[in-house]
Amino acid sequence: MKKYIAEIAIVKPLHNLFDYEIPSDHQEVSPGMRVTIEFGKKVVNGFVINIKEGTELDPKRLKKILNVLDETPCINKELLDLFLWVSDYYHAPIGQIIGLGTPSYLRNGKEMLDVNFNEIYKRKDIERKELELSIEQLTAIEKISYSINEYHCFLLDGITGSGKTEVYKKVQEIVKKRDKQTLIIVPEKNLIPGLLQYFEDSKMNVLEYHSSLTPKKRFINWNLIQNCQADIIIGTRSSVFLKVPNLGLLIVDEEHDISLKNQSDAKYNARDIAIYRAKKNNIPIILGSATPSSETILNVLKKKYSHIKMRERINKKEIPSLKIIDMTKTKNEVLSGEVVRTIQDRLSKKEQVIIFLNRRGYSPLIYCKSCKWIPKCNQCGLNMTYHKKNKSLQCHHCFRNTQFHNKCMECNSDDISFIGEGTEKIEEVIKKEFSNSRIARVDSDSTSKKGQLQKIFEDIKSNKYDILVGTQMLSKGHNFPNVTLVVIMNIDQSLFSPRLKAIEQLAQQLIQVSGRAGRASKTGEVILQTAFPKNEDLLRLIKNGYENWVSNLLEVRKNLNLPPYKSWGVIQAKARKIYDAEKFLLKIKEKIINKDGVEVYGPMPSNMQKKANFYNLNLIIQSQTKSKLNSVLKDCIPTIKNIPYQNRIKWTIDIDPVDYD
Ligand code: ADP
Ligand code: ZN
Ligand code: ZN
Repeated sequence: MKKYIAEIAIVKPLHNLFDYEIPSDHQEVSPGMRVTIEFGKKVVNGFVINIKEGTELDPKRLKKILNVLDETPCINKELLDLFLWVSDYYHAPIGQIIGLGTPSYLRNGKEMLDVNFNEIYKRKDIERKELELSIEQLTAIEKISYSINEYHCFLLDGITGSGKTEVYKKVQEIVKKRDKQTLIIVPEKNLIPGLLQYFEDSKMNVLEYHSSLTPKKRFINWNLIQNCQADIIIGTRSSVFLKVPNLGLLIVDEEHDISLKNQSDAKYNARDIAIYRAKKNNIPIILGSATPSSETILNVLKKKYSHIKMRERINKKEIPSLKIIDMTKTKNEVLSGEVVRTIQDRLSKKEQVIIFLNRRGYSPLIYCKSCKWIPKCNQCGLNMTYHKKNKSLQCHHCFRNTQFHNKCMECNSDDISFIGEGTEKIEEVIKKEFSNSRIARVDSDSTSKKGQLQKIFEDIKSNKYDILVGTQMLSKGHNFPNVTLVVIMNIDQSLFSPRLKAIEQLAQQLIQVSGRAGRASKTGEVILQTAFPKNEDLLRLIKNGYENWVSNLLEVRKNLNLPPYKSWGVIQAKARKIYDAEKFLLKIKEKIINKDGVEVYGPMPSNMQKKANFYNLNLIIQSQTKSKLNSVLKDCIPTIKNIPYQNRIKWTIDIDPVDYD
């Protein structure tokens, strides 16, 4: 008799599928269903990927499926095909992708829920005020609505405050009239509450999906969504894997943001998966940004995406101008005299000020004046940051933490020098300088408790603070009407960073944070403190604006044949002994080096040579075409698996890297 075999993925980083026999009383088993199997000595849940007849496996070793958990596949065909594509494209184990793309309750075998939105939530009792749309908004909506029934990728390139969210809303309403669902993906969960507020009203079922929900809530929302109980879903990057049976529109907000890319495990980019998904479902997708990424602009130039520009703020206010202050001309002060005077002036008008710097803690470098001791992380070899309030030294790369009581740990002297500044120090300086003003610090240290960040945002909006000191947490998406001055400090490192995307990210950050000033009726102002006031990138960005700046960047990249003109993949090996990592990568290089159409560089140390006691080496593989790159990398995986000492090595493949350590 013929045996039917299920190929099963288990939620582990394993590149293989596992063959199990389908018991004769369970012939209904089909792809996308959950089953329990004996794996090694354990009983685990797995997901059926394929069904086939017969197996190469030794009949004595072939085991039967123990139990079938679903009557119908919990992962439908569309989603299973998506998981398989992602696994193939990013060279990540399918089980790992399923793990990232499903709620834990589902993986643990909980029964699916037949739930209804009204049983669990209530719609907000809010009638939407109909806004009078700007010409730019109307044009954008019209353009998108032409393609409402087919795949089309739109770049909604609108300056901060141009009203992109209202465009999303109007297009969503058209989609809803056709009984279709809209999925909105944002790079960070703290952008979700603002959007929820925008979309929730008495007419729509709106659901959120992100990692701060309890596992139970996540599962409920996952079920509501798959039961077509949500009109609008707003979530972080993993929501790109939600099962949305009537998906009619995809929106990726802040498409340039590298938080859309997963940096651990499978290195997928939610934006790129969303585009693939829109294509497969033949539906429109909108990528929104005030600072589109270079790769997206290149796709516009290649005519793959339509470019919709919005260049006016709703309130017709000018985008604030950026002014540079040359810090080499000041006497070692943290804030220049001019900045202090300007802040004073804004405060006297009862307006708010943002001081932006992307470094938390008190000071990034300390040393002992008597014995020259510098605290370094023994796992990473880099300087540790001093955190004053916690009386600790922290490694910002591996999160190692030690208590520190202002005494040298070598010679016990208390003559310690603190060099440079983080948000904690700036907060202290500001408190001294402006002793009568109310100051809030916004970074991941000051907002670690649940709800704390949202509370601060609310308090900023209701004018409970005068000065806000913070990291990029402050710069993204938020709308603070009374902020009229933004001071940017300490960006000089990024001007000269070796990272591929550093300068592009810096430009985006400067524009985004500048966009926080003067959003309401008052004109805004932005001041940048730098020791490199003549830097070409800075000057071009300030003089010509982001659009011009990014097209210039693309020209440079084209001449140097760098991404996005060329496709890159990085194979990274981590090992406790640098020699192991090197040997491993050389073996892979041997396999690739003679292939046509690809170039291999390395092994070379990564930007973070040592992190958490592991040495990191990279092999960079480049190709003119993505398909070539991917096929070559795919061929490597069997080689990698046959390397005998691979258990001493952690390896990953990063396709289209944005920021690799
Ligand atoms: P963006 O996302 O492009 O930076 P938002 O969507 O946040 O801009 O819009 C900025 C502000 O303008 C929001 O408070 C929004 O409610 C408001 N707004 C948007 N469109 C209109 C309009 N047509 N008329 C009046 N206010 C609008
Ligand atoms: Zn000392
Ligand atoms: Zn460390």
